[in-house]
Amino acid sequence: MNSQPQMPTVAIVGRPNVGKSALFNRLVGRQIAIVHDQPGITRDRISGLCTRGARPFSVWDTGGVVGAGETQLTRQVRQTVEEAIRVSDVLLLVVDAQQGVSPIDLELARLLRKSHKPIVLAINKIDDPKHEDLAADFAGLGFENTALISAAHGRGSADLFDAIDHVLPASSAVETPDDQTIEPKKPLSIAVIGRPNAGKSSLINSVVQSERAIVSELPGTTRDAVDIVYQLGDEQFLFIDTAGMRRRGSHSSSVEVFSVMRAERSIRRADLCVLIVDVTSGVTAQDKRIAGLIQKAHKASIVILNKWDLVKPKRGERQAITELLQETRRRAFFLDYAPILIASARTGENVEKLFGLIAKVQRAAITRIGTGILNRLLRAAFDANPPPMVSGRRLKLFYATQTSGTEDRPLPPPEFVLFVNDPKLLGDTYRRYLEARIRDAQPYPGLPVLITCRPRSERARK
Ligand code: GDP
Ligand code: GDP
Repeated sequence: MNSQPQMPTVAIVGRPNVGKSALFNRLVGRQIAIVHDQPGITRDRISGLCTRGARPFSVWDTGGVVGAGETQLTRQVRQTVEEAIRVSDVLLLVVDAQQGVSPIDLELARLLRKSHKPIVLAINKIDDPKHEDLAADFAGLGFENTALISAAHGRGSADLFDAIDHVLPASSAVETPDDQTIEPKKPLSIAVIGRPNAGKSSLINSVVQSERAIVSELPGTTRDAVDIVYQLGDEQFLFIDTAGMRRRGSHSSSVEVFSVMRAERSIRRADLCVLIVDVTSGVTAQDKRIAGLIQKAHKASIVILNKWDLVKPKRGERQAITELLQETRRRAFFLDYAPILIASARTGENVEKLFGLIAKVQRAAITRIGTGILNRLLRAAFDANPPPMVSGRRLKLFYATQTSGTEDRPLPPPEFVLFVNDPKLLGDTYRRYLEARIRDAQPYPGLPVLITCRPRSERARK
């Protein structure tokens, strides 16, 4: 992420299946990339922060992009490797001790050496001291700075960190162009919240594994959340994963209370909240409480009905979706402005549609209702359904306007100021009625609509 511009960068390079993902996970210290048994299916590029060595550095995994049987580097892989060489300070070449030297290893070694950047050779899959002899095979590659490791079992980590630290440039020595005055755009913060086991982590993993993901994991500002930066095109998203906090005493109520507190903190930090609801249990009381928190915090939101794969019918899918949406809307009326996405974190179905919905909310956040239109529509609303009498008096509207969004944050909710005879005369029911009329004109998907009243005496108008 751009907020760490001085951090030295280490790129992991190697042919498929040598254990790059496993090593990446080991360095970054948390499973965010799933290790696949099939070669070539790891995500394209992934980056994370390693704080386990003497000095922190960021790690890039160039991912597996070659097919299994290939013995030569394709042009695409060559490009990926060249890019890794360009952006990093240290190159970490991973080889598979159990497979021995392959023609691709030789070609990669040659390519890396040409860059004149420091290289560390990690000879992986030395799961046992008796495998150490296998390393001799790689002496011919000619790298001095070598570590024998087992990424899967964590052997040789200390040696590897030593080898990396040995060649890591000092942070201050890392090139940072002086003219870099442009502030990096702040990523949109997205809190992924929901009950324990609803699938929050799975969803984030599913997003992160999609193609072209560039991911880095930062320690959360609090210990109960992990921030994951995800780049799609030229836009960055910061996912606040409130998971990792659950499943201690399984379903005890203290766990639930705890998770609400944590959700609250994540919601506060977020620009957008994604509420994950387990479709097999439907909207529960706990979901409603979390939704209430989102609403109270005036945050943009999207609801994901997860685990669709478990309830998806073989036939009549469309009908099932319609019924499901109706049922959810009925039960989750408190978040009625949130778009609902039916998805499966497990199969990945519809997961990428989340970004389409986010874009929709982003567009809504910059949509305004002109003052003329607003006043006409509210006037008509008052005429069609006059406000009730409250202790012998009735709410009177003089004038309304949409504020220009004073809040300096992404996705500010649209806010309407009504100048009235007495703000206390606006009851909740009537407020909801007015909100509905405003949404008739502009639906503002995913955004709460704020209506505030300010007093203005009739005399002052004259
Ligand atoms: P990548 O394609 O280079 O990213 O490789 P992966 O990290 O996906 O690992 C490929 C396979 O090697 C997986 O089946 C891993 O479980 C396995 N693997 C990774 N590291 C080790 C290790 O240290 N020892 C052994 N025995 N297997 C490993
Ligand atoms: P979290 O506690 O909300 O982070 O939930 P996890 O992501 O850890 O998921 C809880 C359990 O639900 C795990 O066993 C997941 O494999 C499973 N799960 C998550 N998403 C799906 C899904 O879309 N379909 C199915 N069938 N299982 C899922």
